[in-house]
Amino acid sequence: MIKEGWEAVIGMEVHAQLATSSKIFCGCAVETGGEPNSNTCPVCLGLPGALPVLNRRVIELGARAALALGLEIQETSVFSRKNYFYPDLPKGYQISQYDKPFSANGTLTIMTSERDDQGRAVEWKPMKIHIERMHLEEDAGKNVHEGLPDVDKYSYVDLNRAGTPLGEIVTAPDFRTSWQAYDYVNHVRSALRWIGASDADMEKGNLRCEANVSVRRVGETGFNNKSELKNLNSVRFMQKAIEFEIERQIDAHEKGEPVNQETRLWDEKNQCTRVMRSKEDAHDYRYFPEPDLQPLVVTSEFIESVRREMPELPDAMRDRFVTDYSLSFADASHLVSDKDLAFFYEAAAEASGNPRVTANFILSELQRELNNSGRSAADCPFPPGELASLIKTLDSGSINNNQAKEVLVEMFASGKSASDVITEKGFKQVSDETAIAKYVDEVIARNQDNVDAYRAGNEKLFGFFVGQVMKASEGKANPKVVNEILRSKLQSNDG
Ligand code: ZN
Ligand code: MN
Repeated sequence: MIKEGWEAVIGMEVHAQLATSSKIFCGCAVETGGEPNSNTCPVCLGLPGALPVLNRRVIELGARAALALGLEIQETSVFSRKNYFYPDLPKGYQISQYDKPFSANGTLTIMTSERDDQGRAVEWKPMKIHIERMHLEEDAGKNVHEGLPDVDKYSYVDLNRAGTPLGEIVTAPDFRTSWQAYDYVNHVRSALRWIGASDADMEKGNLRCEANVSVRRVGETGFNNKSELKNLNSVRFMQKAIEFEIERQIDAHEKGEPVNQETRLWDEKNQCTRVMRSKEDAHDYRYFPEPDLQPLVVTSEFIESVRREMPELPDAMRDRFVTDYSLSFADASHLVSDKDLAFFYEAAAEASGNPRVTANFILSELQRELNNSGRSAADCPFPPGELASLIKTLDSGSINNNQAKEVLVEMFASGKSASDVITEKGFKQVSDETAIAKYVDEVIARNQDNVDAYRAGNEKLFGFFVGQVMKASEGKANPKVVNEILRSKLQSNDG
């Protein structure tokens, strides 16, 4: 929670590694875990005279990403040199894009919610995010330090990662809370995976995010100094770092202490942010157009061909779920937050013929089981058709809602079919009228006083009879049939 009278201003930068098999400007393989410097050539080593050649697949995957994030692909974009010196950057510059990015001006609707003390979502609401740009660039290599910090023995440079293609996605400073930023990154991650543009795995480093955070008094329109949070190894660390930073800055402003424009790191061990470098070290990158590459021209035919090859996008699927299946916007958004879950849902909804109840079962019961076991919908122990058959059985009235939930839990644990679990648990309801009529006759015979009272006009007693019949059948009688038979027998005087 942000202190009364203050608001946070947060912009996000996400670097996503595009899932190509070779690098952006040479033919070297993109792979992790190889011998250091084994996937290198004169181009990605930055040797004099080597010339970059743009990888077409980078443009296809970049176009997919841009379309999935609601960005407009620019007809002409220009690669530029971003000059700085660092040991993992052998050319002395990074080939990136500057004033003419690959795509720009995106609008993305995400679902977001604040969280309570237990980290549970309070209320999901749609939020429109403006994405300023997504440009394409090459990644740098990696410096590897041996020994403890302060007593380094050696530092090494591994250039296997140098030249790996990245899309850098930059938002406007639209976020006001750490949870909005958290929900945004999760949305981007799932959208990129959905369309196969990136593996978007933060642990493996193929999705990296930075947050620009400043605070101001409510009502102010200008911006105060911001800090740039880096080294955020998970979305949760990022959220905690932003939260810490908001409090730290408000505190400093209130005490009249300076808030410097600086880069800070998240220190998970001490649960705080620390200065990495201050404004004095700020780079002037001296961007200029890369003379060894032509401007990139993307035709509308190319964009159309990429669009045709793409699966249905999550936003389109969400809107379709709302229209075709009468789901709420929030429920549909949660279902499409994960591709496997969305496809599982659609298959189950079609097979069950009851999309609403199918959505309820997936979003409450199944999601809980998946979360508890750390699985995704793709490794659900039963197929969508089995969930559909459970829901059909529920709809037929032969099991009730609580029983259906219990069956689902058992199906998840054992992988057994719905009908096997229902039989094992003895849940099959008795709908046979002769059998139920027998129970009704017994109950009427045993409770003649109440029968007389009911017939004399005490209609409240009806519930009592239903209860007695259910008890006599050990809970297995179909309540609908019980009601019908009871009503007819109690009304006729020969009972
Ligand atoms: Zn290479
Ligand atoms: Mn970048």
